[in-house]
Amino acid sequence: MPPTINSKLPDTGTTIFTVMSQLAADCGAINLSQGYPDFAVPSGLLDRVAHHLRNGCNQYAPMPGVAQLREQIAAKTERLYGRPTDTDTEVTVTSGATEALFAAITAFVHSGHEVIVFDPAYDSYDPAIRLAGGTPVHIPLRTPAFDIDWPRVAATISPATRMIILNSPHNPTGAVLNDDDLNTLTDLVRGRDIVLLGDEVYEHIIFDGRTHHSLLGREELAAHSLVVSSFGKTFHATGWKVGYCVAGAELMREFRKVHQFVQFCVVAPIQYALADFLVDDPGHADGLSAFYEQKRDYFCTLLAPSRFQLTPSAGTYFQLADYSAITSEADVDFARRLTRDVGVATIPVSVFCASPPQRQWLRFCFAKDDATLEAAAERLCAI
Ligand code: PMP
Ligand code: GLN
Repeated sequence: MPPTINSKLPDTGTTIFTVMSQLAADCGAINLSQGYPDFAVPSGLLDRVAHHLRNGCNQYAPMPGVAQLREQIAAKTERLYGRPTDTDTEVTVTSGATEALFAAITAFVHSGHEVIVFDPAYDSYDPAIRLAGGTPVHIPLRTPAFDIDWPRVAATISPATRMIILNSPHNPTGAVLNDDDLNTLTDLVRGRDIVLLGDEVYEHIIFDGRTHHSLLGREELAAHSLVVSSFGKTFHATGWKVGYCVAGAELMREFRKVHQFVQFCVVAPIQYALADFLVDDPGHADGLSAFYEQKRDYFCTLLAPSRFQLTPSAGTYFQLADYSAITSEADVDFARRLTRDVGVATIPVSVFCASPPQRQWLRFCFAKDDATLEAAAERLCAI
């Protein structure tokens, strides 16, 4: 007789990204669902990967990450956020941001702890919290701006609150935290035993002259924080799954206890290649916001004649669209129908929410070449 399953995640299915990308492939639909860019990895970076593959960098990397890459991450953290960062004790290279998030949650959340997440919330947070024995406490972002309801956060914090997860720029809404948000957050965590987990994977994709406010940019917040990012977004290489975590040495020591047994170390030749590339071109990511802002504008212009309502995204490579003028169908059903009958795959936003969102939204990924966006828009404008 097979063993009983007794699932630790009884309500968890296959992630929406896998489901929608598979449906898009099955239907031959244009895939604007799962977030991945259509663009080429910089050729200089590919050359360095090929070089290190062919020149003996194919054994285990050091557990915390290749030193040269950690040096570059520390230098970038200081350059952009003004935080002096110790290469040896405060940076760990991870298998994508996903592993970093999982390791941080596993390291700090105990049974009985509560973790505050903001809905719509990236889908890996909630299961990771549950697996650690914690309780996710979902607070909806306020519409229409998708900003944080700080009074509600203040009222929710209790002695059981162990962690708050902040994602800026935010997937799927594109909302970004501003200076006032960080002031309020600073006041809220002052004197409290709360860990902040910053998911800043879209730090280099922010629009209309805004700047990214990292948790690492303020000493008081940085003392509470583990901040996660990912090279997948920055170098159009989501399939490489190389990310990292930056945190103070005490927090990082605990983080590494988990990282070393979840992953031990991350793909070596790519780490060496990224390090070389960042030495040669440390500001490469600086042009990314302008590049994606133009994509966002083009996508919004293309959809202007449609019945979808769009408020331009403030960051990330995602754009939400309100489809209530088209149908009252639930977003999951509409997203399926759109994929099958119209030939455009999207992500329904309700899957990121513990309680149904106030409006009917689909998420579109606009990290695609213009011809793909045009073909998708033609179909979307016809409905
Ligand atoms: N957090 C957010 C908000 C994301 O959108 C993603 C993936 N796009 C991740 C984490 C995971 O990043 P990675 O692919 O590097 O694991
Ligand atoms: N983060 C990507 C998105 O939001 C997908 C990541 C994944 O497929 N796991 O679309």
